[in-house]
Amino acid sequence: MKNFPMFLRMSGRRVVICGGGTEAARKTRLVLKTEASIVIVADQLDPELAGLVASGRATHLTQAAPDTFDNCALCFIATGDETADLAFAALARAAGAVVNVVDRPEHCDAFTPSIVDRDPVVVAIGTEGMAPVLGRSIKTDIEVMLDPRLGTFAALAGRLRDAVAERIAPASRRAFWEWAFTGDAFDKHRKGDEHAAADMLKAAIATGAAPENKGRISLVGAGPGARDLLTLRAVRRLQEADVIFYDRLVDPEVLELARRDADRIYVGKEVGAHAWPQDRIDRLIVAEAGKGLRVVRLKSGDPSIFGRAGEEIAAARAAGIEIEIVPGITAASAAAAAMTRPLTERGETDTFVITTGTCRPGDAEPDWTPLARPGTAMAFYMAVDRAAHVEANLLNAGVPGDCTVEVVCSASTRRERRLSTHLSGLAQALERHQMASPAILLVRYSKVQGALSRHRAAVSQGEL
Ligand code: SAH
Repeated sequence: MKNFPMFLRMSGRRVVICGGGTEAARKTRLVLKTEASIVIVADQLDPELAGLVASGRATHLTQAAPDTFDNCALCFIATGDETADLAFAALARAAGAVVNVVDRPEHCDAFTPSIVDRDPVVVAIGTEGMAPVLGRSIKTDIEVMLDPRLGTFAALAGRLRDAVAERIAPASRRAFWEWAFTGDAFDKHRKGDEHAAADMLKAAIATGAAPENKGRISLVGAGPGARDLLTLRAVRRLQEADVIFYDRLVDPEVLELARRDADRIYVGKEVGAHAWPQDRIDRLIVAEAGKGLRVVRLKSGDPSIFGRAGEEIAAARAAGIEIEIVPGITAASAAAAAMTRPLTERGETDTFVITTGTCRPGDAEPDWTPLARPGTAMAFYMAVDRAAHVEANLLNAGVPGDCTVEVVCSASTRRERRLSTHLSGLAQALERHQMASPAILLVRYSKVQGALSRHRAAVSQGEL
């Protein structure tokens, strides 16, 4: 580490900005977030700086006076002229200020990091000048990660510190703060109910301890595989979870987003062959939530599509356990994205059908053939092994054999494979190209193809 990160005390101190142009204005914008008094030394001021001076937030000097740098915490220099820059740097340094000369790293005592501001929570990112672009992209990632209301909640917690010290025994304080920053009070605050959040914190302080965590189950959509196709809410639930039950199709990369000490339990659900019977999963998630734990049931894609969410919801409700669905990106969306083609296309397909080639053993198969009408795109889940059956039934239902079928295996993952073929010969094409499960078959029966096939039928029946 060539540069050591520190936070400088700014209250009651002065920051001097030497220069009155755009660069000076940029640095001033940063300093404005602090409590420092701002002094700008420049012949001329850009309109933004002039406005600040007019409002009284900054003072303006046309030249540095002997006392300009007294009690100066930090001095930014951006006159645009090297000789002037160095002269100011010498003056500031002699007065004990930390100096930053814009665009002249060799004359800097300190560098400005990329900042994620959730005041009083501040994250500073530095790359020692090696990769400023990387620094900015890390900033963007952290911006996404930290709730926009984190700062105001941290400030509220800060105002209650004395009360906590007074009412909550030292041995329970850590548990209290853990609850405060991960429990229901922060949740309320996040959703915009600041008063309810404050009331909850104060009620807990009055009882002398954090309330017992209420267990809850979140059915979380893990998306099709790629870790950046999780929603922000899914990531948050993973980070809050005490225990995570996950399926075969959930990518290990996704699990890495979970809290390190969360229990991870593989329930190994294979399509059509369940390593764990569903009722065992239902009983277990309910039992864990019943102990007050936050349970995540992580399912591939969207939990509400071929995910047996209904059974888990029923089990939770029967036991009086709170349960929610966190939606995810379903495999059909990922398959369309992999082909860079939308699921619905104006004028071509305006109906979208989600269906399956495999049902519960013993159940009657869904009859999707009446849905296979011109203007329809159909996504078949769990259908690779049933491709011959899908092909025959659709052809039988009058879908033209030259309809496009797109097949995407392991969409969005490193194992992704794509094939664009036709309905006639679909099963053979899948075999020839070794397209294996998990895969989506996307059958596109456009309006134009419908009209054409009607025309052909009429011709062959001698009507035209
Ligand atoms: N809830 C999931 C579907 C679970 S059923 C969702 O919304 O996506 C399992 C089937 O989903 C697989 O047989 C396959 O048809 C499909 N599937 C899941 N992940 C997939 C992926 N990455 N690529 C292609 N198909 C996938």
